[in-house]
Amino acid sequence: MIVVMSREATQDQAERVGTLLRENGLYPVFGASDGATVLVAEESGTRELATAVQAAGGVDRVVLAPGPQRLTSRHFSPHDTRVAVAGPDGPIIGGKGFVVIAGPCAVENQQQMTTVVDTVVSSGAAMLRGGAFKPRTSPYSFQGLGVAGLALLAEQRSRTGLPVITEVVTPEDVERVAEESDMLQIGTRNMQNFALLREAGKSQRPVLLKRGMAATIEEWLLAAEYLMHMGNGDVVLCERGIRSYERSTRFTLDLSAVAEAKRLTHLPVVVDPSHSTGRPHLVGPMSLAAAACGADGLLIDVHTDAQAALCDGAQALDGTQFAALMEQLKPVVEAVGRTLAQPRSPYLTQV
Ligand code: PEP
Ligand code: MN
Repeated sequence: MIVVMSREATQDQAERVGTLLRENGLYPVFGASDGATVLVAEESGTRELATAVQAAGGVDRVVLAPGPQRLTSRHFSPHDTRVAVAGPDGPIIGGKGFVVIAGPCAVENQQQMTTVVDTVVSSGAAMLRGGAFKPRTSPYSFQGLGVAGLALLAEQRSRTGLPVITEVVTPEDVERVAEESDMLQIGTRNMQNFALLREAGKSQRPVLLKRGMAATIEEWLLAAEYLMHMGNGDVVLCERGIRSYERSTRFTLDLSAVAEAKRLTHLPVVVDPSHSTGRPHLVGPMSLAAAACGADGLLIDVHTDAQAALCDGAQALDGTQFAALMEQLKPVVEAVGRTLAQPRSPYLTQV
């Protein structure tokens, strides 16, 4: 059961609802949604109890959601959530616009960033990506530039006027990464890092939550619940491939998860065709398929010197491939009633 208190409700009124639920065998967790207190119980509760709770002081609405999901459920919010990145003038993920986010896997140096960013901006990317903190499988691989990488990414943000997304890997770094970027990325290896989810849930920044490479759709949505019940409703899910026995691709891109997640949740879903396939020649076809099956956008690795890339060069598109993909995407997104989100940047006319 979910109880949404009115914004004017007092702490006392919320406590009284909590007591009423506990007396009836429901054990709610207090959270926040859209500036109001919410009490969320794992147990679904009966209609009779819902009616009694609805009559209590300060209650705005009571939602009975079947299944394990609560705030991420379409029962809580039937309409598609639109996540505004960087305020009302920035891209909106989950609306009519199909948002393409592009950039290198890792921030390496200023020249690399400027070259790659110029390339993706001139082809119409609406947002920039680049990892400063890299969660690498091997401790001997390039771990990212850390704080220095954040500064290089922020420099591209102010140079181009486009919003940036970057990964955060520890709870302690959330505040700093949120200050220097427009959207936090939680990677596949951290999908169930609950301390990190809680901290990102307290942040005011939108969060892109990648699916764990061995996570079920239900586990993925419950990870999003952690973010939402801490008060962050600006959550975007990202399908990035799951582990299977197949070795010709890096992971197995589960596009059925996109359609299924969109049925189960009001949150937007984007697709990462780069980390999932690990092969540049598959990025194009999978991007078109993602758009066709209802994804709200793409997160794509682009590098202008892939051979020299410090991270994931083998899966990056070059500038020509990315430009061609952006052209191919247009008719596909239009066929499903969308448009390619246009970047809003004064810098565009100069590239
Ligand atoms: C990334 O996007 O840079 C990344 C590390 O992806 P994933 O968490 O999906 O492996
Ligand atoms: Mn990568």
